Amino acid sequence: MGRIRILDPSVAAQIAAGEVITRPGAAVKELVENALDAGAKSVTVEIAAAGRTLIRVADDGDGIPAAELVLAVERHATSKLVSADDLFRIATLGFRGEALASIGSVSRMTLTSRTAEASTGARLKVEGGSIGKVEKTGAPAGTVVQVEDLFYNVPARLKFLKQDVTERRAIDALLTRYALAYPDVRFKLSEGKTASLQTSGDGDRRAILATLYGVEVARQMLDVVAEEEGFKLSGFISPVALTRSNRKEITFFINGRWVQDTPLTQALLQAYHTLLMVGRYPLAALFLKIPPEEVDVNVHPAKAEVRFRNPDKAFSFVQRSTRRAILAFTPVPQVAPQNLWGGAPAQPRGIDPMWGLAHDELKVEGQMSGGDGNMQVTVPPTVPDLQPSSFPSPLAPVPLLRLIGQIGATYLVAEGPDGLYLIDQHAAHERVLFEKLMAQHDQKNIPSQTLLTPVVVELPPSSAKLLEDQLTILHHFGFDVEPFGSNSFQVRAMPVLFAKSEPAAALRALVEDFEEDEAPLQNEIEARIAGRVCKRLAVKAGQVLTPEEQRALLNDLEACASPRTCPHGRPTMIHLSVDMLERQFGRKGAR
Ligand code: ADP
Ligand code: MG
Repeated sequence: MGRIRILDPSVAAQIAAGEVITRPGAAVKELVENALDAGAKSVTVEIAAAGRTLIRVADDGDGIPAAELVLAVERHATSKLVSADDLFRIATLGFRGEALASIGSVSRMTLTSRTAEASTGARLKVEGGSIGKVEKTGAPAGTVVQVEDLFYNVPARLKFLKQDVTERRAIDALLTRYALAYPDVRFKLSEGKTASLQTSGDGDRRAILATLYGVEVARQMLDVVAEEEGFKLSGFISPVALTRSNRKEITFFINGRWVQDTPLTQALLQAYHTLLMVGRYPLAALFLKIPPEEVDVNVHPAKAEVRFRNPDKAFSFVQRSTRRAILAFTPVPQVAPQNLWGGAPAQPRGIDPMWGLAHDELKVEGQMSGGDGNMQVTVPPTVPDLQPSSFPSPLAPVPLLRLIGQIGATYLVAEGPDGLYLIDQHAAHERVLFEKLMAQHDQKNIPSQTLLTPVVVELPPSSAKLLEDQLTILHHFGFDVEPFGSNSFQVRAMPVLFAKSEPAAALRALVEDFEEDEAPLQNEIEARIAGRVCKRLAVKAGQVLTPEEQRALLNDLEACASPRTCPHGRPTMIHLSVDMLERQFGRKGAR
């Protein structure tokens, strides 16, 4: 007998399913898309055990005729596409005819449906790919797809699922985004008795935005509305003062389809160019509508990517429309600061409102020995070759420094035994806070201070769940936080170290960047949390410090174990040695 044989159909089906149905959220996505394609005005999703044991999606759409139920669960069976040409005028979300077949091959699925014309409904069960008999049953008009025990027959896939919080968060994120894209449809997501999302379907996007980001953030988001040659863009983007440390809050829908990997993200980032600090990203929920023939949707099995017929056009349209919205809402600083060397800027430059200093001057790159990569120093083009003379180990102690003052409300200037030191006040403070907090933490003694009046903070549902899971860790850090109604928390005490900070900001800092599935080790989680809180609560660039505060910061920095980098590895200071200054001024032999 030869070695090559045709796979058993059930194995082939499971392999195919692996491309599309990778996790509970992926099944939810396909089912919700089917409901929307059927013209549903209401989509109700129930899950149990984060979708592992149950996913139930009910809609009030067109329904499936009893005679077609079996076809619906067959592979390559679709009502949405007839010829390959149709692919270029797809107006529905689905078209591959694969979702129900795939889900049915890796779960116990029950499909119940009734069209408006039919007097009774019909039901069909599929278990691990084997299709049962169609039975008559009473049912409201519309469709209910119930998926039980997803991956029960694919144990390998089960092993790849993440913690419940993570899977649930993916479902939450998905539903919230679809709710935002389809504000005229009523969405509900619940697990057990708790509904984590419920929208009215009254078309009010901003109200839905609040469930995604929380009321306060939603209020600040800027409107984007633009139209050009059949391209339409609508939605929301954050003002420059509202940022995140990653791109996860950037959502693009293209023709009603959530597209996760798109060059349009880059177009948006370009719109913010020079307006955001390095490493900060905007929030955005943008909806692009373009003629269907302008976009190829058939490039990704889960339809998470698309290809544009004219990528430059889409790119520049999004870039210009969002840039316009940002600039319309960005206050111009009253006085454009001169550069450090006193020369007036030769031409108008981007002024970063968060830094107070122009940013896009000549960049000189220096390599940090022992550090992690490039460091960028911004200097005016008139000073050639200004390179920090040396980069000692991050652990090298800082010599005693004499404070000279603060410049640009961003850097401290100090004199040391060998030259001039420029200290980034934010990075330095971050380092100081981090070492103090971790030292207290290691001694299991983080002094906590009770707030005079407890503060209630509302978080978006997904963050709220995350925070709930981390409450014990927060206790270790001296926070006293308790759940306070749905998605709200009451902060009753804070670490003394952060006593001057705003409790709401502190709490958000704790959850905002929490990465999925990272750091299963408690220690690592705690160090990360500490790093994040310190970053958020450290003095900012642009904050004027009193001479006493400047001096205290310098003293604290001198006392640090690794004073030369912030907890994230960026330098806290630049040293310009006497030797280097002398060479630069031509007092000493040519370089
Ligand atoms: P596709 O969506 O790519 O067509 P699916 O496997 O998701 O493939 O669904 C197969 C067919 O079953 C669809 O084309 C549609 O006709 C029908 N169908 C699936 N879900 C629903 C629903 N919720 N309401 C009405 N029809 C549905
Ligand atoms: Mg489908």
